[in-house]
Amino acid sequence: MHPDKRSPTIARFDLKILWERLPALASQLWQEVLLLIYPPTCAGCTRALASDKPFCPACFSNLAPISEPYCPLCGIPYGAEAITSHLCSDCLESVHPFDRARAAGIYQGLLREVIHRFKYGGQTFLVWPLAKMLIGPARELTRLHRIDTVVPVPLHHNRLRQRGFNQSSLLARRLGSLLKVSVDYSSLKRSRWTDPQIGLSRNQRAVNVKGAFSLKTPAKIKDKGILLVDDVFTTGETVNQCVQVLNDGGSREVVVLTVARTVAW
Ligand SMILES: [Zn+2]
Ligand SMILES: [Zn+2]
Repeated sequence: MHPDKRSPTIARFDLKILWERLPALASQLWQEVLLLIYPPTCAGCTRALASDKPFCPACFSNLAPISEPYCPLCGIPYGAEAITSHLCSDCLESVHPFDRARAAGIYQGLLREVIHRFKYGGQTFLVWPLAKMLIGPARELTRLHRIDTVVPVPLHHNRLRQRGFNQSSLLARRLGSLLKVSVDYSSLKRSRWTDPQIGLSRNQRAVNVKGAFSLKTPAKIKDKGILLVDDVFTTGETVNQCVQVLNDGGSREVVVLTVARTVAW
């Protein structure tokens, strides 16, 4: 049929689709314009990047990304002496509240510095490269578990006021959109103020965060597969408290994903 002979109904339908897609198209166009004005730069050294990778090759080699062999349950990486992945002594001796945990890299060197700039220096644009680092381990978790929703580790409202943002929520938002999974920002809340965990022993950390989290809307997480997101996994006491609350609320399973984790080699 000649285009001019199309029925008015079809023409209106085309216009309706275009109208509905307009905000998304405008947003994509705006991002393209921004990329022309500000070409992507390395999150480590700020040099211009030739690819869409978050770090230049030199900085990437300094990031200490976690790769096999590692513990298939808690994700802790092994040193060069280990040949294959196997359960670590911690996972053999104790039962974790989470079903599985993964981290993108080791909390040291450049990755530690970038996380500090993001979290304490207010450089929130660094959420992009850090969220991109989460994609690999997130895909592994979604292959092994059915994830219904992403939940960030919440901040106490006083801390949120001080910092102006929750780094875990920013990561969860990007990750949710990359994975095309919904993000639940409100069900889990930090109901009690806690002192920073830095400098505390494992036992002191456990006492410090005990009872700090609660569920605001238990019905939203009931029977759900949850991907809990945080920036750093140190001894796991903070995420363990969150997972326990989610488990008590009736979630089906909870897996944990962090940008980095500490390793005591
Ligand atoms: Zn670089
Ligand atoms: Zn383990």
